[in-house]
Amino acid sequence: MLDRATAQSYLRRVLDAKRWASERIRADCDGGPLLSSARAISTRVHQGRIIEENGSITNAADVAARAAQEAMAAGKGRQGLTQFGRARIDPATRAIVHPFPLKPAPAPTTQSLAAPIPGVNVCGTWLTDFIDTGWGEDFLTNSNAFEPAMHAQAWIIDDGWNFYWSGNLNSQGCTGTLQLNTGTYYLYQVTTGIGRDNKWFNSYYVDDGELTTTYIQPSFTVSSGTTTVTAFGWYNDSAINTAVVAGQILARDAAEAGGMGITPGWPFDLRTNEGCGAGVDPPTDSCYKSPSASLPNGAVQIGTTPVNGYTDDKWKFTIGHEIGHYLSDIAMGMPQHGGWGGDSPLELCACGHYDTSWGNQAHCMQSVEWSGAAQFEGLAHLYGARAFNRTSDGDAIFVYYKPFRSANWTIWWPPVDIDAFNPLQWRNTQCGSPAGHGVEMDWMVFYYEITQGSSSDATTIEDGSVPLTVEI
Ligand SMILES: [Zn+2]
Repeated sequence: MLDRATAQSYLRRVLDAKRWASERIRADCDGGPLLSSARAISTRVHQGRIIEENGSITNAADVAARAAQEAMAAGKGRQGLTQFGRARIDPATRAIVHPFPLKPAPAPTTQSLAAPIPGVNVCGTWLTDFIDTGWGEDFLTNSNAFEPAMHAQAWIIDDGWNFYWSGNLNSQGCTGTLQLNTGTYYLYQVTTGIGRDNKWFNSYYVDDGELTTTYIQPSFTVSSGTTTVTAFGWYNDSAINTAVVAGQILARDAAEAGGMGITPGWPFDLRTNEGCGAGVDPPTDSCYKSPSASLPNGAVQIGTTPVNGYTDDKWKFTIGHEIGHYLSDIAMGMPQHGGWGGDSPLELCACGHYDTSWGNQAHCMQSVEWSGAAQFEGLAHLYGARAFNRTSDGDAIFVYYKPFRSANWTIWWPPVDIDAFNPLQWRNTQCGSPAGHGVEMDWMVFYYEITQGSSSDATTIEDGSVPLTVEI
């Protein structure tokens, strides 16, 4: 139980600027009286959060970010602080309208270095805010933590907005060794233009219909002898969470022998803070839309349906799943499926155990669907599972955001850890093997099994210059 005194002590620790960069705040609570109005949900999701006296929940990082802004407004200088905000995207050119005029700085030379240094590796981070973490998956396992800004687009700038370096950070979230004068700089990084090897994702924050990119601009200092410096940006939003997942997918694409099936040269647009709209119930749900007149690149929309207060962007597996639909569609098209349909009268094989406040009831992990629908949902789950699991391991976990009715009829409340490695054969064991129908959970395990790296004859998810596919 986290009482008020303990919460206050966490708050004080957060407000101690010296510890910001070095200490992760974890508040473990057991869902006691302060949460009495909350619906049943795993208490693990409250790690890293402060329970206010009125029962509302605040992220420690939000408090710190606010404090940083207030300190800066009070003229206390920028050292150790983060500026953040949203930059507009020009609708015609799709270029970032920078909040300040970036201009190239003269390249430093040995002569111009105030204190010659051998070189410094500058690393960026994103502050994440996920709740489907720590269930046995291998990556992004902390709920509220700094993670490397893998493959993020970034600039190193000074007070005059001169930039000393621009490009994409590497899979460790770093620039690689640079020559910089001693002094204070800022790592200006944005959520669009996340890329590696001509594979690109743009994570947008849709603000009243307008596309924006979220930027953070933490300061860092290069001193004589500095070899590696990490900039911590105290800010999080839906575009940042989605950028983190995109960077993770790019990193796994490089690290996994089987790849992630990303079509080179395609601008994968990820629109956050925007639900799918009419046609989905509730319309605030996330979805993927194929290329069309209004969305020429296609798009993932990461919606705002709150699952017990935690919107879709807080669920990294949901983001990975929707990106999975996108990657597979651009690579090989969507299968014909005629809708999810095929609802089963058997309660273990339908979605009646929850209402739409948890998300749509069109389909769920265990529902009987027409085979085509079950397959493409299972394929999207595969991408989510591959994004956050090392496939050379003999296990895999997919964490689901909708309630699950287990075989003994107990309802498991989200986040629900689903075994993506060991076949349950749900359709056959629970649903009476209906002809022409399948269950997405079964297909997820099937796809994971045939592509997982611990198998001696694993198939790959290639992404060559021609549209490709799962090689089955
Ligand atoms: Zn889906």
